[in-house]
Amino acid sequence: MTIHMDDDIKYNPSEFESKMAELWEKENVYRTNDQRPTTNDNKVYCLSMFPYPSGAGLHVGHVRIYTGTDVLARYFRMQGKDVLHPMGWDAFGLPAENAAIKAKKNPMDMVPGNIANFKRQMHMLGLSYDWEKEIATTDPSYYKWTQWLFIQFFKKGLLYKKNTPIHFCPKCKTGLAEEEVLANGTHERCGSVITKKILPQWIFRITTYAERLLEDLKLLDWPKGILEMQRNWIGKKEGVIIKHTVKDLNISIETFSAYPAWLFADTFIVIAPEHPLIKELVKNTQYEKDTNAFIEETKKIPAQQKTEDTFEKKGVFTGRYAMDPFNPGREMPIWIANFALMDFGTGVIRCSAHDVRDFEFATKYK
Ligand SMILES: [Zn+2]
Repeated sequence: MTIHMDDDIKYNPSEFESKMAELWEKENVYRTNDQRPTTNDNKVYCLSMFPYPSGAGLHVGHVRIYTGTDVLARYFRMQGKDVLHPMGWDAFGLPAENAAIKAKKNPMDMVPGNIANFKRQMHMLGLSYDWEKEIATTDPSYYKWTQWLFIQFFKKGLLYKKNTPIHFCPKCKTGLAEEEVLANGTHERCGSVITKKILPQWIFRITTYAERLLEDLKLLDWPKGILEMQRNWIGKKEGVIIKHTVKDLNISIETFSAYPAWLFADTFIVIAPEHPLIKELVKNTQYEKDTNAFIEETKKIPAQQKTEDTFEKKGVFTGRYAMDPFNPGREMPIWIANFALMDFGTGVIRCSAHDVRDFEFATKYK
């Protein structure tokens, strides 16, 4: 059998595309079927990350992501499933704020127009959303629920206020998210060198769930560096805090150790560059100048970089020794290290060559 193809028939989508899109919308063909009882067998929730509606419109990355879930949604619909495939707008926050500052406008004067444009482009792409479920995070009927959630977390004691170091742009006079700090330590918007500032922040007490979260990381087949970052974010609940006196000074420092079994093997101490005690350690000593320079330099490094495998570990000696309560008479040199995190434990860590990071550091500065 031969199949005869007529040369005159050309596939020309522009002739019918807009007509079909119009029809789909009019007939509401992608509306989630909620007329029959939902069972685990017939329901599918297919969700993409909501875009933030910038003035520039969709970019090719959006098209890539949204095509993926659209294919899935269509596949499941063809199998007779009740598919919920919604779209919404992550319209709050820095992207909208930055765009508004640039255009010298109120963000709410720009957001609705941007949303309309995104939606128009999505219609052109033929994406199969149930537009009856559309949400915008700037809509009071939506954000009343994020506020409600905040209150529930607060009532349960899972939310607290704490003074913590954050990235700060001295020129824009604003706190910055990790993502806004470029690798060279400058602010992506204005190019100024960012600093660290200690400000009151709301913090989720995720350490309450640390054990469960850490345990479940074992189930993830993710790159090693990402898993390590997750581990640092989760924070260790388990560990011990040990008090040390500092030789020749009338002060003591508290260290955190996640590996109590190795306490006897620890040989040195590292302290986070933001630690307030450093000033007292080096005051009026020959080490003051070098440590200050080192601290200024590390302030510019975004925290996420510090947990990457390729991050170069650097340190500077404070000239001070802590007395080891586990090995009487043993003096442990105190180093300031660029990888020590202020929000991990007490910001001071007992170290030995057992931890991979400590080991690299110890080998370098032995
Ligand atoms: Zn700035």
